[in-house]
Amino acid sequence: MNRVYNFYAGPSTLPLEVLQKMEKDFVDYQGSGLSLIETSHRSPEYDLVHNRAVDLTKELLGITDTHTVMMIQGGATMQFGMIPMNLLLHTDRTAAYVNSGAWAKKAIADARKVGNVEVIWDGAESNFLGLPAVSELDIPGNATYLHLTSNETIGGIQFQDWPDTDVPIVADMSSDIMSRPLPVEKFGIIYAGAQKNLAPAGMTLVIMRNDVLDKCQDKLPAYLSYKTHAPKNSLYNTPPVFTIWAFSYVLEWISENGGLAGMAERATRKAGMLYGAMDDSNGFYKCPVDAAVRSKMNVVWRLPTEELEGKFITEAKDLGMLGLKGHRDVGGCRASIYNAMPPEGVATLAQFMQDFQRNNG
Ligand code: PMP
Repeated sequence: MNRVYNFYAGPSTLPLEVLQKMEKDFVDYQGSGLSLIETSHRSPEYDLVHNRAVDLTKELLGITDTHTVMMIQGGATMQFGMIPMNLLLHTDRTAAYVNSGAWAKKAIADARKVGNVEVIWDGAESNFLGLPAVSELDIPGNATYLHLTSNETIGGIQFQDWPDTDVPIVADMSSDIMSRPLPVEKFGIIYAGAQKNLAPAGMTLVIMRNDVLDKCQDKLPAYLSYKTHAPKNSLYNTPPVFTIWAFSYVLEWISENGGLAGMAERATRKAGMLYGAMDDSNGFYKCPVDAAVRSKMNVVWRLPTEELEGKFITEAKDLGMLGLKGHRDVGGCRASIYNAMPPEGVATLAQFMQDFQRNNG
């Protein structure tokens, strides 16, 4: 088998061990005579998988009974609307948002359709190349919640710490969940689409503090209400069985590889190889973002010309490194190096960066 290094932003690379385990179990799930994806979601076989995913999520993140773990379909995009529907709709209260880039903008746009929104920090003037110091955020004390995007997948910037505030913090962690230890107690809601660090696409992990859950709307269509999912352990309706099955294996893989501290060490090491290659390139590769908030998940850089960027991406592809084109809104190059990207893949890319500079610099 000749697996390439997959630097796509999501769906993205999954641990090879997880794919192999699923392949082995796929047609005949542990001798049951049928695939898990053909099995009832009320069966004992699926029940074990479902609860293992919830339990391991709690164990890895150190979640106690203060927070509820939910697995909801619709992607992180649905959370952009579902959160304000549950917490802002039919109130005269305001939610505070930090506008850090492309994903924050989408969250803000949806929240504005539902209720009052105040953007308390806006990175637009600085082209979304930096983030505010959390201690300097002016968070209105009466805000219903404060929304942050922990890692901007397109912009390549990542929060390094969290505000100290009594206002519930709501964080879109789609592109860096489980990549570092997290003080879950500081958050009112954490949500993350699965298809980067957690599983194939198909669900969003939502972790909600129980006092925030209590304040959610009751009068919403069933699927859009957290109060439907929470008491039913995300089994109100048919869950995305395939995704949650893979998720349970990914969580086992994270546990076996040092848990969140292990993931953080891996991420620092991998990101260091790419930022190091840039910093040592005499300006041939330029990372446009503020060095203090460089992302360890989505590393972005520019070459001297767009023509060279195109050549770089094509040659890398020929060498088995896929998905290095930056998002069309920002151009340049981007390597998404989520948890499952092996360090060898990043080392191969860093070496290629040096070789390419030697031949083209
Ligand atoms: N937020 C962030 C930070 C993302 O990176 C993405 C997807 N790339 C989304 C939200 C949207 O996620 P989904 O496609 O699961 O709706």
